[in-house]
Amino acid sequence: MNEHQRHVKARQDIMKGNTPEKRIFVHMEDLEEKKKREDEVKAERERKNGLSDVLKEARTPLFCPECKKVMKGKLSVKMYRLHNQCFDCQVKFENKLRIEGKYEEWEEKKVLNNQLSYIRDQIESIENWREEAIKPVEVFDSVGIKEVELQTEKWSGNEEKVRIMAKESLEGLNKIKEEVEEKLNSLAI
Ligand SMILES: [Zn+2]
Repeated sequence: MNEHQRHVKARQDIMKGNTPEKRIFVHMEDLEEKKKREDEVKAERERKNGLSDVLKEARTPLFCPECKKVMKGKLSVKMYRLHNQCFDCQVKFENKLRIEGKYEEWEEKKVLNNQLSYIRDQIESIENWREEAIKPVEVFDSVGIKEVELQTEKWSGNEEKVRIMAKESLEGLNKIKEEVEEKLNSLAI
C-alpha cells in the first residue's frame, strides 16, 4: 500500500465511521537519536573491551607479534600466553640469553615478578578484608539500651582487633615486597 492508497483508505474509514489506521511516523530526529544511542553503546562496548586486558591476553593472535609468522600449534599458543611471542621466537630469545650469560638472571626475574604479583594480591585482599570487617553492623531489633551498648562494645573491640591483625599482616607483606623489589632492581636484566 502506497501513501496515496493509505490516504484513500483512511478517508473511507472515517466516512464509514471507523477509526482510521494509525501510523507511527518515525521522524528523522528519532532516527538520528537512535543512531547516536547505538553509536554510544558501541563506543562503550569498545571501551570495555579495551579495558579487559585480561581477556585480551587470553586471546591468541593469528600472527606472532615478534616474527609476524603464523602461530601454529599448542606450543605456540601456550608460549604466547606466557611470553607474548611464538615458540620459535621464545627459543631464540632464551638461547640468546644463554649465550650472553643472562639466562639465570632472566629466570630469577620471572620468579621474583611472580612473587611480587602474589604479594600484591595478598595485600589487596587484606585491605579489602579490613574494610569489610570493620563496617558497622546494623542492629535491627534492640531489646533494650543495655543490649545495644553491649553490641557496640563488642563491635568496637573487634574493630580494634581487625585493625591490629591487618596492620601486622600488611607490615609483614610490605617488608617481603620491599625485599623482592630490591632483588628485582639489583638484577641487570
Ligand atoms: Zn615468533
